[in-house]
Amino acid sequence: MPDEDGALTKLSRLKSPWILHYDCSSCNGCDIEILACLTPYYDIERFGILNKGNPKHADVLMVTGSVNHRNKVVLKNLYDQIPPPKVVIVVGACGSTGGVFHNCYNVLGGVDKVIPVDVYVPGCPPKPEAIIDGVVKALEKLKAIQEGKWVEKKKGKEEKKKEKEEKKEEE
Ligand code: SF4
Repeated sequence: MPDEDGALTKLSRLKSPWILHYDCSSCNGCDIEILACLTPYYDIERFGILNKGNPKHADVLMVTGSVNHRNKVVLKNLYDQIPPPKVVIVVGACGSTGGVFHNCYNVLGGVDKVIPVDVYVPGCPPKPEAIIDGVVKALEKLKAIQEGKWVEKKKGKEEKKKEKEEKKEEE
């Protein structure tokens, strides 16, 4: 059956989202909790949530670990390869802010220094329940984007000023 108006694709994206998991530079604590979501106890695959290895097949990018000068290139590359509409979930303190590594000489900070982030799952590491909750939140946003109901917040003067300063510092 052809999906001329894209309704089936949109529904499939929400009912069976495919996730690409990328570990920036985590200690693997967060990654183990993500893997726990796939074990028989939580078994998120029963909800149609699948872990995929190809960014071109993914709807959701799930990132752990802090960003450094090396992995920022890979992270941006993966993000760009995921077809829109897409959402990004950051799992753990390191991916959110740099966490315990935020003062390291090579660490830029959290994932949002490089790509836009939609959902932050706090914790060091977060529990599987929190990660699953993060996926549900991300799907709510994906649904709103698909229905054209999502309105991006306009950046205020302070935010723009801060961004300019951060860019200068990087150069
Ligand atoms: S948030 Fe904690 S568990 Fe997760 S990668 Fe950082 S140090 Fe490891």
